[in-house]
Amino acid sequence: MALMITDECINCDVCEPECPNQAISLGKEIYEIDPARCTECVGHFNEPQCVQVCPVSCIPIHPEHVESQETLWAKYRRLQQTATAAAPPASA
Ligand code: SF4
Ligand code: SF4
Repeated sequence: MALMITDECINCDVCEPECPNQAISLGKEIYEIDPARCTECVGHFNEPQCVQVCPVSCIPIHPEHVESQETLWAKYRRLQQTATAAAPPASA
């Protein structure tokens, strides 16, 4: 499942650097999670890191992005491949 940030967010900035997928960014008013990049931390951690650090507990599961573990792993692998493809070639 992807997670989402509700309007209870106080823009404390704590969650953004904790996300291993760079899925969190500051939106127009509050922080937002890109569902295409959120794997619920699958592939990196056992628990969603943003949920762990949020002081106001405003990061529930996104009801429109309920996904299975297999789907989350597939998303993780796709993000890894994209990151590898975007990385500059290693110098010999
Ligand atoms: Fe990022 Fe993990 Fe939070 Fe998803 S659950 S937004 S991947 S920190
Ligand atoms: Fe908002 Fe919670 Fe992230 Fe702070 S940790 S910016 S309150 S979602």
